[in-house]
Amino acid sequence: MTQPDLKTALLQHNHWLITTHKGPDGDAVGSVVAWAELAKQNNKSYQILFADQPAAFLCPFLDELNWSVFDTQANYHHDILFALDYNAPSRVGDAMAHLIINSSAFKVMLDHHPDPDPFCDIMVSNIQACSTTEVIYQTLQSIGQTEFINEAMAKGLYLGLVTDTGSFRFPSVSAATHQMIALLFSTGMQHHLIHEAIYDVNSVTRLQLRGYAVAEKLKLFPQKGIGLMSLSKEELARFDYQKGDTEGLVNVILSIEGYQVGVFLMETDEGVKLSFRSKGTRYVNEFARTYFNGGGHKYAAGGFAVGDLQSVINQLEELLDNL
Ligand code: 5GP
Ligand code: MN
Repeated sequence: MTQPDLKTALLQHNHWLITTHKGPDGDAVGSVVAWAELAKQNNKSYQILFADQPAAFLCPFLDELNWSVFDTQANYHHDILFALDYNAPSRVGDAMAHLIINSSAFKVMLDHHPDPDPFCDIMVSNIQACSTTEVIYQTLQSIGQTEFINEAMAKGLYLGLVTDTGSFRFPSVSAATHQMIALLFSTGMQHHLIHEAIYDVNSVTRLQLRGYAVAEKLKLFPQKGIGLMSLSKEELARFDYQKGDTEGLVNVILSIEGYQVGVFLMETDEGVKLSFRSKGTRYVNEFARTYFNGGGHKYAAGGFAVGDLQSVINQLEELLDNL
């Protein structure tokens, strides 16, 4: 499929269902915000549908938009479905995956994750892009709709860029990323307010939880350049854990001199969620896919394991030579 087909599809369909992955991060939320603004500019009706509730710090970005969390009882009338910032139906969780797979609507993917599943009619997948919002910007360029980028859309696009690039520091950032930012600034977007909304919204308990994790829960393997950090359900409860409180915590490990791989393990009611990060010549997505039923990007991946925290840590430690 070529880009003209995408433009035709956008213009032909009037009821846009805009979806993103479970555990929406800044890029997921930024992407749906930008795409909803595009729907508005094209006089389309739209609905943003999340698999689960976004973290509190991301909700202000959705103010005044039509969004909801997936409900198995609800009907989602749509003639076109957008899959933003995910590469497979499994990324939205079982219940919502059913809707995505069985929808008879035209489907469009806009994403930057490797190895996309061919579940959409049009797949705009650019794994070089630093964020899905960068893919969206490139797509607007290719269909000639960059004039629709207003301040509201720019905020979403910028949110995705900042959060998926560690504030513009990862290798995925390019000259083109900065050219895109220049255009976003021209809309009147106040970039410092976006940084503040993302990074200056700590609660005291969140800071204490993060301090505790660094002070008490770091396990280092200096010969391997790997650091692990874990938090049990009890520890999370002790610091009044709220969704989003551990976001980015795994990156602390990579900030230690001599460490190239960090793993954060978080115990949940269902099992243990693992977050992998790396840099340089070390990659984590294959490891996450092979051993922990997950995947992701070369330098940022996730996975999941059933079992209690200690047993998953033991399992992981046995495998460290493969990481
Ligand atoms: P996080 O550690 O922030 O949860 O996830 C890091 C990256 O890994 C995300 O960008 C996401 O794309 C990917 N990821 C996280 N969990 C999974 C998973 O279960 N499956 C796959 N395929 N990718 C994941
Ligand atoms: Mn992303």
